Amino acid sequence: MFRKPYLVVWLVVLLGILVSAGLHRLVAEREHDRQLLAFEERAADSILAVESHIGATIEAVHSIAGFYQSSKFVDRDEFRSFVSGPLERYPGIQALEWIPRVTRAQRWHFEESARMAGYTDFRFTERRDRRLVTAGERDEYYPVYYVEPEAPNQRALGFDLASNPTRRAALEAARTSGKPRATGRITLVQETGTQFGTLIFVPVFKNGGRLSGASEPRSLLGFALGVFRVGDMVAGAFDSNVFAQRAGAAVDLYIYDIMAPPEEQFLHVHSDRRDGTLPPRLDATAAREGFHMSSVVTIAGRNWLIIARPHDPSLGGGIMPEPWLALFGGLAITLLLAAYLASVVGRSHTIQNLVKERTRELARSEARAHAILDNTVDGIIVIDATGMIRSFNPAAERIFGSMEEDVVGRNVRMLMPEPYHSEHDGYIKRYLDTGEARVIGIGREVTGQRRDGSTFPMELAVSVVRFDAQPTFVGIVRDLTERKKVERMKQEFVSTVSHELRTPLTSIIGSLGLLKGGAAGTLSETAERMVTIAHDSGERLVRLINDILDIEKIESGNMPMTLEPLPVPELIESVVSANQGYAQKNGVQLVLDGTPPERKVRGDRDRLTQVLTNLIGNAVKFSPEGARVELSATTAANRVHFSVRDHGPGIPADFRDRIFSRFSQADSSDTRQKGGTGLGLAITRAIVESHNGRIWFDSELGQGSTFHFEIPEHLNSDTEGGKT
Ligand code: ADP
Repeated sequence: MFRKPYLVVWLVVLLGILVSAGLHRLVAEREHDRQLLAFEERAADSILAVESHIGATIEAVHSIAGFYQSSKFVDRDEFRSFVSGPLERYPGIQALEWIPRVTRAQRWHFEESARMAGYTDFRFTERRDRRLVTAGERDEYYPVYYVEPEAPNQRALGFDLASNPTRRAALEAARTSGKPRATGRITLVQETGTQFGTLIFVPVFKNGGRLSGASEPRSLLGFALGVFRVGDMVAGAFDSNVFAQRAGAAVDLYIYDIMAPPEEQFLHVHSDRRDGTLPPRLDATAAREGFHMSSVVTIAGRNWLIIARPHDPSLGGGIMPEPWLALFGGLAITLLLAAYLASVVGRSHTIQNLVKERTRELARSEARAHAILDNTVDGIIVIDATGMIRSFNPAAERIFGSMEEDVVGRNVRMLMPEPYHSEHDGYIKRYLDTGEARVIGIGREVTGQRRDGSTFPMELAVSVVRFDAQPTFVGIVRDLTERKKVERMKQEFVSTVSHELRTPLTSIIGSLGLLKGGAAGTLSETAERMVTIAHDSGERLVRLINDILDIEKIESGNMPMTLEPLPVPELIESVVSANQGYAQKNGVQLVLDGTPPERKVRGDRDRLTQVLTNLIGNAVKFSPEGARVELSATTAANRVHFSVRDHGPGIPADFRDRIFSRFSQADSSDTRQKGGTGLGLAITRAIVESHNGRIWFDSELGQGSTFHFEIPEHLNSDTEGGKT
């Protein structure tokens, strides 16, 4: 499964996982910070709102004290109208009250004047067994005398605050210190729900409250008193502050009186949860666990601890979706990327393998081609259209004696002697321009030049290959030096043998002729027949030997020829009369067609006679009995044209190309049927060509053949005789 090309895919997967995990952490941290910041902002808003609201509310109580301080006497109506302002401005105040200091002697007077003012049931009361009863006899009373708003606080009217220890403690602390003092948490007399309350006493002294030693208790007039339900006060803070309202939806606010014993510290928890759930009631220690913000505020001599905690799950502790989104998003992208990469890698891997396979195949086939080129016996030379050698195989190196690296990139001319050397470029150009080929596709014998400058005969076959429309020439070269040598040796051998045979053969024929002629007495019929056969065969043998020697002489250029002016009519007539007997013997009519022109040719009498005799001989040989063989001679354009016409079987088409070659006969069975060596026409052509002439024929199968040759006419200005 773990393959090398897929390494990159695995790396991407690994990297993707790492990046996703990193992203998860980063987003989580950022999200946490963001939440913390948001929470802190809201917590600070709500704590600040509550603190400032409480401060302002206490001010309201202070203002009452100030009012008393500046007035000789405050009657019930004045009190009512004075406090109506603060009550309206600071929602959450349960009541504002005037608590006079009343001595035992003044009690009856105070109770009586209140009853007179319309509070008919007015009396000083105290709480006993959860019920309010008439206050007992004591030296001092601190009754609730004025209370606003009156209706909801009816029950408190007349209640002697000194009758309760908690209230009395705060009251005395205020009197002693001369400063506002609050009670610990209490349940208000007028409480109908479950809220805790607190009372804040502000002392009012005669003469502006200046202390003067032992006279202090007597100079106390009473207390301005604020009655608060903690819950209402906090709610008032939130109601009057838009920031707090916004914050209230996000945080729970816990308030503790930290100067009280632990079990009595809890004052209130404020919550404005959207989902309507209630916050748990926590003690001060538990509230400070986890995400929170706290502040201590001093309220009339008591320290209150305000703690804000988030209740919105998105604010701390809750499940945050963003980091997980980042993680799973990252993983999903990684997975997609890996899958895509895997498919790409897979595909390119397949292609790579294919390319490798193809390359191997190519290399194999190239090696095969090279092996063939390297081991072939023929030289193979590849050149481009400009004649530059492109490749040169080992056989070519051997033939020309040059190494491939020495010739590649050079012009192929270097392998040819003059005049080809100079003409070759023009030759290629002509071929490319006109398509006229001399060697291409034909193959012929040419002369090559070795590195050392020596020349040699070679057979050259050229073919054209076109790569991308650019012609490339492939030449196949075979060195003919050896073959030529062998041929020459063979010819020499044949001619030597022929010479050596001819001398004894001549005397044999001569003797046989004498025998036949009766020189040795009359022969019996049988003996004469046998001698005749021997004589004829001997003559045939001599003809063959002569033919062989002739051709050898012509080909080696050793045929002695004496060119002289010969009158055409004389030549024709002598040939006709010489062959008449042969024709008659074969039942053929040899006739002269037309009158031979009174002209002369330049030629060797014997050789031209041989040519005509040969052609007539063939014509007669292939003529049916009774047919005619016509001989004619004409002139045109300083040439004399001879033709020999028969009405024989004609020359088969597939034989026409070879008819002038040595030892060629259309049907080898002819040798026996018609006699002949297959050398006649070869010799004939050689003789005609050595007279600067030309030989050819036309033939129609079943109709007959006509052999033509023409040689230059002898013009009078020509010098007599000459040798070639
Ligand atoms: P040969 O000595 O065998 O006649 P030639 O070279 O003169 O040799 O002729 C070669 C061959 O050409 C003959 O064997 C024959 O097949 C063919 N040939 C030559 N002349 C004629 C002709 N006039 N009509 C038909 N075939 C001919």
